[in-house]
Amino acid sequence: MKPKGYSSIELSNICKGTHEGVTTVVTHILIDSRAQQEYSDSMFVALIGQRQDGHQYIEEAYQKGVRSFLISRSQIISDQYEDANFIVVPDTLKALHQIASFHRSQFKLPVIGITGSNGKTIVKEWTFQVLKEVYQICRSPKSYNSQVGVPLSVWQLTSSHDLAIFEAGVSQSNEMECLERMIQPNIGIFTNIGNAHAQNFESQEKQIIEKIQLFKNCNQLIYCKDHHAIDIQIAKTIFSQPIELITWSREKSTVSLQITSITHSNKKSLIKGIYKGEDVEINLPFKDSASLEDAIHVWLLCLTFSIDTAIISEGMKSLTSIAMRLELKKGIHSCTLINDSYNSDITSLKIAITYLKQQQQHPQHTLILSDILQHSESTEKLYAEISDLLNRNKIDRLIGIGPNIQAQKHLFQIPTECYPDTISFLNSIDQIKFYNEAILIKGARKFEFEKITERLQEKGHNSTLEVNLNYLIDNLNYFKSILNSNTKLMIMVKAFSYGNGTHEIANILEYYRADYLAVAYTDEGIALRNQGIALPIMVLNPEPQSFDSLIRHQLEAEIYSLRNLRLFLENLDRNTYFQDPNQAVKIHLKMDTGMRRLGFEQEQLDELVELLKANPQVKVASVFSHLAASDEQEKDDFTQLQFERFNTMTAKIERSLGYSFLKHILNSSGILRFPDQQFDMVRLGIGLYGISNTPEHKAILKPVNRLIAHISQIKHLKKGETVGYGRRGVMPTDGTTATIPIGYADGFSRLLGNGNWQIEVNGKLAPTIGSICMDMLMIDITGIEAEEGDEVVIFGENNTIYDLAKARNTIPYEVLTDIGSRLKRVFYLE
Ligand SMILES: *Cc1c(COP(=O)(O)O)cnc(C)c1O
Repeated sequence: MKPKGYSSIELSNICKGTHEGVTTVVTHILIDSRAQQEYSDSMFVALIGQRQDGHQYIEEAYQKGVRSFLISRSQIISDQYEDANFIVVPDTLKALHQIASFHRSQFKLPVIGITGSNGKTIVKEWTFQVLKEVYQICRSPKSYNSQVGVPLSVWQLTSSHDLAIFEAGVSQSNEMECLERMIQPNIGIFTNIGNAHAQNFESQEKQIIEKIQLFKNCNQLIYCKDHHAIDIQIAKTIFSQPIELITWSREKSTVSLQITSITHSNKKSLIKGIYKGEDVEINLPFKDSASLEDAIHVWLLCLTFSIDTAIISEGMKSLTSIAMRLELKKGIHSCTLINDSYNSDITSLKIAITYLKQQQQHPQHTLILSDILQHSESTEKLYAEISDLLNRNKIDRLIGIGPNIQAQKHLFQIPTECYPDTISFLNSIDQIKFYNEAILIKGARKFEFEKITERLQEKGHNSTLEVNLNYLIDNLNYFKSILNSNTKLMIMVKAFSYGNGTHEIANILEYYRADYLAVAYTDEGIALRNQGIALPIMVLNPEPQSFDSLIRHQLEAEIYSLRNLRLFLENLDRNTYFQDPNQAVKIHLKMDTGMRRLGFEQEQLDELVELLKANPQVKVASVFSHLAASDEQEKDDFTQLQFERFNTMTAKIERSLGYSFLKHILNSSGILRFPDQQFDMVRLGIGLYGISNTPEHKAILKPVNRLIAHISQIKHLKKGETVGYGRRGVMPTDGTTATIPIGYADGFSRLLGNGNWQIEVNGKLAPTIGSICMDMLMIDITGIEAEEGDEVVIFGENNTIYDLAKARNTIPYEVLTDIGSRLKRVFYLE
């Protein structure tokens, strides 16, 4: 189902731009040159963000085959692009909005616009789940609801759709008007409003008024009257035309749908109500209040559409939770698994494939895909488009599961095997070779692909360090927002990226355009090179024996002493055969400005420079130093002294050496506390994982890690019975204990035993009881409802890594780097 194509001239007219160059047909819009899909028929929109300028990536997009560009800086047009076109406008985002509005106005169909603080995506996806057999639905991919997400969502509309559902999110005033012009909804849903008003709004009232803008041209608006603040504002609003307010409530009877009772049994709920004077009811497979609210919105929408009662009750009964996140974990035979159980549709497949292709540590990329449960004019067309997508992305192998994809097997040009269902694939799985490849597992819910993940994942320790990559990216962007536009960013990925992982983290950093990586030892750098990481890598503490393999792998050594430099030079003399004679070997010089650990002293600089001048085969890429107390305010005088010394030392080297180099001194807390000392580069470490020492930044940064495990066994004990080695744990009352498979060999220190730490079990905190064992520990769960196999949180949101560090008398750095390598790491991306 390709979107309608436009000629580039037509698009230029729509956004009143100037068209330069040849005319092409545009069927796809690209805003990220890194996305691998769609080239020749795509238009690349060069958006200008806070720190990133899309114009920088025009060359890259052109190399990938893009021939149409929407830009605002006409000076980048050059002869080199003679077979391309450029649409020049003053503001590319605004032009993208104009194009989306125009495209939307080509279609006459019911369009549902959803906004509110929470539940937008779930209401959208559930509406789709219930109505997908009734309508051909176009909907926002994932939660594409921003100023950039909405135009991309609207662009998907084609004449084959007869219903559209788009979500709209605003983060500040005056944004909704633009979104409304693109979505042009005729039916609105206002889900709810949070208690605290969002950062950029003066008050909750202002926030509601802004959101209501989405509905100003709607004919119908659905909302819950129990949200009084919303109800009051809607009553005050003057809409441009008569609008039918379709409401529901648990309290009032003067509404369209009055909820009369909600009863729960097991994990299910039965909701009864009165709609147009008649009794109505639905069953839901949830009981939490947020899900119930989302579901009632969907229900009322279906009632408004006069959908057949049987379809409603069947649809509501089988709603499934929406997994918005991708999960990356280790697989058997050195494979990497990416598990994405988000509804299978082409757009989310594209997003997942982009992530699959980031896994450059593997030579081969495999896709296991179920039937796509999406209405389409023809299944043949749908699978032809997927085949095209796989070709463009150079996917090496497809395993298709389901009758539809099997029937279309002939359309795929890459090696393809098909199976009618998941069971038959699982029955043959042992005959299929999986080795050193990245495997994307993407299936619609009903195909139960979790069974495939189960079979292909590496077995072993079931306790997991979760790494939230979205938070990591948010933290990265937060640090970038502090940096001056020309300050480079080096990321410290030493010690297994502070316990988080190697290539998994480096791949993300490369994708998000970090400038440099740093590791502690040569081996760590070599491992990254072998996994395909191409970024420059500095090695902080290279052993002299490793100098030649360091150079061979294009790693860059830190040199901290004269002896160290002489050894490095001797090594170069001996190993000239692998050097490029036209290129000097890059080194980084470490100055000791007060840490008293490694580094040159002021008095050694003359000798240092002399040695460097005599050896032009090495080139100083950077000179740096490290702060001893960047996070301790009472020692700021000393930190200032370090800055002064650093200035003096670098000035001296620069003067006598006769060329310049990068200078850098700030680590994470340095970046946060001394933003005017950025020099040319900064070195970000712990802050990337959301950890900071200052309360102010603790509130902004997002902790990336959670450590989870599962209960192995539950025991019922009598008062006075003892637990564990040395009988040090004593039951204070009759009660219950749970045994958790994690111990000091996994980095969970013995200092945390005997009540010194609390583990979260089903929302409640349970203290450790007795001493921590090598591979296990026990907790007292008296009074907490729990079953064997339940997930428990060792540290997370409610029992933080900060408190854990304090409880064992150390710092979060040590807690993270202590987490044993035998624990699984799972990476999540929404
Ligand atoms: C580890 C390290 C950093 C990063 O420190 P954080 O406090 O984690 O930001 C910076 N520079 C050097 C030399 C380091 O060794």
